[in-house]
Amino acid sequence: MELQERLNEVRSRIAEAAKQSKRPDGAVQLVAVSKTFDAEAIRPAIAAGQRVFGENRVQESQGKWPELKSETAGIELHLIGPLQSNKADDAVALFDVIETVDREKIARALADAMKRQGKTVRLYVQVNTGLEPQKAGIAPDDTAAFVDLCRGELGLAIEGLMCIPPAEENPGPHFALLAKLAKNCGLEKLSMGMSGDYETAVAFGATCVRVGSAIFGTR
Ligand SMILES: *Cc1c(COP(=O)(O)O)cnc(C)c1O
Repeated sequence: MELQERLNEVRSRIAEAAKQSKRPDGAVQLVAVSKTFDAEAIRPAIAAGQRVFGENRVQESQGKWPELKSETAGIELHLIGPLQSNKADDAVALFDVIETVDREKIARALADAMKRQGKTVRLYVQVNTGLEPQKAGIAPDDTAAFVDLCRGELGLAIEGLMCIPPAEENPGPHFALLAKLAKNCGLEKLSMGMSGDYETAVAFGATCVRVGSAIFGTR
């Protein structure tokens, strides 16, 4: 199957899942995760009308996205991988959305970088819903206080929450937990769902699904 067919398939399955759960048209944004793929492999997705992309590494993204962004207007780039504070300036310069804010140090570094550059990047707080030691994200119980700190002391407008459920578990309860935490914080955006579970995520209220291999193929 060609990339365009796979992309269309993902789009129609998202639309169908949204319809099933009585979500309005356009309620779910598709973030096409292009990590590990080079500019040559990404261009067909842009040609097929895809404008929102996700990457998990700042440095890798710097090697391809400045050029791709300069070729096509309206590209929206999401950082979906862990961020180190010494990369905050680079991340703010290149990305439109950073989905992986998960500790005070990185939140402060982003606030400073945005001030320096006079640029606002949209932010999500990553929650480690499975409390996995190897995984990034703030603990569910600490989420509300962290969102408060970001909004208050740091003056950051947090847009939503993001999670990556444990690979071997049923994702539904994790999506439900993220939705509940967001509601408690007064946040409307939920970034959840990947190639294996994006339809489930839509049923649990995802506003943003991050789909890589189902579009670009195996990595
Ligand atoms: C790689 C990645 C994805 C996409 O995963 P697929 O299974 O290829 O769809 C989504 N979210 C994050 C945070 C990722 O790192």
